[in-house]
Amino acid sequence: MNEPRALPITDALARPLRDLRISVTDRCNFRCPYCMPAELFGEHYQFLPRSEILTFEEIERLARLFVGLGVQKVRLTGGEPLVRAHLPRLVEGLAAIDGLSDLALTTNGVLLPDVAADLAKAGVGRVTISLDSLDEAVFRAMSGRDGYSPTQVLAGIDAAEAAGLTPIKINCVVQRGVNDHTIVDLARRFRGTGHIVRFIEFMDVGTLNGWDLAQVVTAAEIVERIGTEFPIEPAVPNYRGEVARRWRYADGAGEIGIIASVSQPFCGDCSRARLSTEGRLVTCLFATGGADLRGPLRAGASDEELAMIIASVWAGRTDRYSEERFVQTTQTTQTTQTPNGAPPARRRIEMFQIGG
Ligand code: SAM
Repeated sequence: MNEPRALPITDALARPLRDLRISVTDRCNFRCPYCMPAELFGEHYQFLPRSEILTFEEIERLARLFVGLGVQKVRLTGGEPLVRAHLPRLVEGLAAIDGLSDLALTTNGVLLPDVAADLAKAGVGRVTISLDSLDEAVFRAMSGRDGYSPTQVLAGIDAAEAAGLTPIKINCVVQRGVNDHTIVDLARRFRGTGHIVRFIEFMDVGTLNGWDLAQVVTAAEIVERIGTEFPIEPAVPNYRGEVARRWRYADGAGEIGIIASVSQPFCGDCSRARLSTEGRLVTCLFATGGADLRGPLRAGASDEELAMIIASVWAGRTDRYSEERFVQTTQTTQTTQTPNGAPPARRRIEMFQIGG
């Protein structure tokens, strides 16, 4: 059967569509207070019913259309993607898409020892594993669960390495007063291993994490803290639009990355679309909504019609939230300012619905 092929597209600010992040579930085994706080996501919280979640076949069909429009990289995320049953089956389908050159996954890692080998066999190329601290108490506080420890994540990292899911990136969200005193230890642990720790500035995603500018440890401060212990120097980006700024250890022990969405926004190069668990096309991590693809898909739209919807949403995209974050707060009137340095509360989509 002929696959519909369209020309690669660009948005209203001339940014191409290159990456697609797919949230395969809104559920998670962690309750990180900065993303999915336990007090709001308790046992009575209603996650999406199965009927509202895209099936593997639906995800695969949409992914194929995105690739036809220029997407080269797909990242599976969530929620926690590994809590979705039979994930390797989805991976197999995605890996078979002609034109897709990079298939990655972001996970908290604790389930990796069970599935890393199957994921690699099915076609995942590499994984990013979140690990906010090696300190037991800090890790427990930041994962929002008593039952887990950093040792389990380290076992997940080992399993990923053994399965060849490399290079492994390790994501650490840095929150002042919570884990910032442990970032040098994290850097030390992975120096010389080939794994790349990426420190992420705490972001005002979603509406539930009580974000406060005072809790953001900026890229400059992270560089200074790590650099004081282990001299580092800037490295050139691997490609245009790379999310993390690269820094390499002067002694050759590898590199770290810093994702500075707050202090050094990078919207100008953003080529990422997001497909939410229930099939909305979201064009910014900080978006307030998205375009429904599941409706037309289940109503019988053809591939051409679906591709047309995707293309027109992308063509009209003007999002550059992070670059406008502080412009909004300084230029808005008193009624819309907030005391914590955050832009006026809009009903932003939560991160677990669209993935990181
Ligand atoms: N469950 C998976 C995981 O833990 O990696 C995938 C989803 S999680 C939402 C993706 C990434 O987003 C994680 O590295 C997480 O730490 C990061 N994240 C979530 N909320 C954040 C925030 N407010 N600021 C910065 N990073 C955040």
